Amino acid sequence: MPVPTDSVIAAVDAGQDAARRDLEALCRIPSVAFPGYDPAPVAASADAVAALLERAGLHGVRQLAADGSPPAVYGERTDAGAGAPTVLLYAHHDVQPAGPEEEWTSPPFEPTERDGRLYGRGCADDKAGVVAHASAVAAWVEAAGAPPVNVKVIIEGEEELGSPHLDAFLADHGDLLAADAVVVADLVNWRVGTPSLTYLLRGMVDVTVTVESAGHAVHSGMYGGPVPDPLTALAKLLADLTDSHGAVTIPALREGLRPPRPLEAERLAALDFDERRFRDESGLLDGVPLGGDPHLPPLQRIWMEPSLTVLGIDAPTTATASNSIQPRARAKLGLRVGPGQDARAVRDALVRHLEAQSPLGLRVSATPGAAGEPYEADVDHPAARAMLDALAEGYGTDPVLMGCGGSIPLLEPLQSRHPDATMLLVGVEDPDSRAHGIDESLHLADWHAARRSVAHLLGKIAGR
Ligand SMILES: [Zn+2]
Repeated sequence: MPVPTDSVIAAVDAGQDAARRDLEALCRIPSVAFPGYDPAPVAASADAVAALLERAGLHGVRQLAADGSPPAVYGERTDAGAGAPTVLLYAHHDVQPAGPEEEWTSPPFEPTERDGRLYGRGCADDKAGVVAHASAVAAWVEAAGAPPVNVKVIIEGEEELGSPHLDAFLADHGDLLAADAVVVADLVNWRVGTPSLTYLLRGMVDVTVTVESAGHAVHSGMYGGPVPDPLTALAKLLADLTDSHGAVTIPALREGLRPPRPLEAERLAALDFDERRFRDESGLLDGVPLGGDPHLPPLQRIWMEPSLTVLGIDAPTTATASNSIQPRARAKLGLRVGPGQDARAVRDALVRHLEAQSPLGLRVSATPGAAGEPYEADVDHPAARAMLDALAEGYGTDPVLMGCGGSIPLLEPLQSRHPDATMLLVGVEDPDSRAHGIDESLHLADWHAARRSVAHLLGKIAGR
């Protein structure tokens, strides 16, 4: 049966105003799921999302929770039948807190358009993704009676918290999420007008390390000299974890790292990394050089290299410091790991490396924390090729293959549960969206292109 994509895309375009109204309605609900916030708006947001999915023509729409989690919303269309592929569309309806409201140019929960962008908390991250999915399904139902493949939609309610109930959620509802391809509409495009498929994500591990010298604090005058200072020892220990550029060079912490393939190296070199913009975004002071291996392109350092951050140190504050030598000092380390690395193995190697040191002759102990694996999608998989084609048609320009230095907690457990599923990570944000920040915004024309791309994808997967 021919896939009537043209009439579906016409329906997407005709539904532009309605989608915009749906998005604004969702963005007026301050669905912050963080502990300490009123849970009522998150519940109202889940109700509104459920109503949206029903209006889009999805069947079996229901709210799902696990172990007291904020509500997720699920709906499906299985008209295509058991032999047809299934596409799972993912977004999340919870948002970050607004921060100081007086710093916003317009109120965070009153979506406001300025210069082609819609400003408000959640307008981009990730209510734009919620409505993109719903409107793509609605267009297929309207123009063709049903989507050409089986479609499931899952809208999470606790992504901004790091999905703390994910394991319980997957234990209870994981089978429902089985799919051949998963579209995660929660990432950043390369720039306005240029869509992207993100195929690399770094993983992250954390380790807590303690340096100990004595059973109690002692006077720095009476004992200083012969009694070594654990804070100084900790500083020496931490300083030796990276080289003079801050690059991670200890072989055990680079174990398994795969270098860019020839094609990737070509793509990295071809991308026009804007250092000025990167410095502005990060607030890097003038004259401070970029860190990491200076021989590698900055994008490779962010996407494909391990990087170490001291996340916190337990020590007296300068305001309360007295003239004493502390008995112990403790730091929590975060290590981002690159493609090819085994996060658990690297975490354990970091523990062994730390415990083998004895700065100033002191005792070092280390405790392994969390380990999230890096993620890599096969960009030659037919579903990924379909997504790239769908983005090219939706935006009218070729997409960029990107990495991302951060992590998405959902991916690895979902992938290990459904190993044959292909993850398709696409943007609704652009580098000006300021997700999580003051004056978050959505580029409306790109958003319409994103809605078209999701609709195109369903047709392309059916056609292959
Ligand atoms: Zn998000």
